[in-house]
Amino acid sequence: MVSISRDETVAEATIVEELLKFSEFEDFDRNRWKPRKKDILIDWKINSSCDGFSFQGFDEISGKPFIRLRKIPKTRDDAFLVAHEIEHIIRHFDKQYLEFAKSSVITKYKDEEIVDLSIRLGSFFDDPIVNSFLHDVYHFNPIHFYTKVKMPETVKSLNSSGDLVDDLTRLKRALFYSQCALEWDSIEDKVTLRKWRELKRLYQMKRPIVKRMGEELYSMAKEDGYDTLEKQTALFDKIANKYTIDGIKISSILRVNHVL
Ligand SMILES: [Zn+2]
Repeated sequence: MVSISRDETVAEATIVEELLKFSEFEDFDRNRWKPRKKDILIDWKINSSCDGFSFQGFDEISGKPFIRLRKIPKTRDDAFLVAHEIEHIIRHFDKQYLEFAKSSVITKYKDEEIVDLSIRLGSFFDDPIVNSFLHDVYHFNPIHFYTKVKMPETVKSLNSSGDLVDDLTRLKRALFYSQCALEWDSIEDKVTLRKWRELKRLYQMKRPIVKRMGEELYSMAKEDGYDTLEKQTALFDKIANKYTIDGIKISSILRVNHVL
């Protein structure tokens, strides 16, 4: 990924300072993050050209975890997103995070596009679990973020482009759709659910193929479950044998990187 502006490294204290005023973040920081901190040192980076508000990953050379944010977090939504990224990293250290490795099969796609697919698969499996954990245990409420940020951004993208895209883009979009469906499964708020129904109708109009694939992925996840690494691996196998990009099965392109 080419970044236009450079990462600026900041101290964790600068990141959490403003967020500790939110009781759910303070609770998460004290009871979940602090006990783990000494074993997991995170590099915090601010980069105004960060894709999305937040992103977590591991340094290619040192293997050290990092969290990249677009700006210094301040709001309650920011607090939720920072906790979300920290929780991904904790789950990674606990070997509860499914990772993928690229096989040597040749496709027309660049390596980074395949890496991006594996990141999206990771989100598909992990994000709904992380968000419901943060909601159930630490009482974070992601509804504001869903309705004020995620849904409007999705509507904008639906209005700007339709279904006529290559197989890889379509699969990535279908994974995003089903991830949203899984995340919004546990929501009871009527207004949010109404907005989700409206968004589904817009998908039906603008991206019927993505919606159909997304619904299929969602049903597969619901039927078989995805709450353990074993179930996630089985679900990945099913997905990887069902979908193809340019006639090549996903199972020939990516495989689960066994960390157990
Ligand atoms: Zn995530």
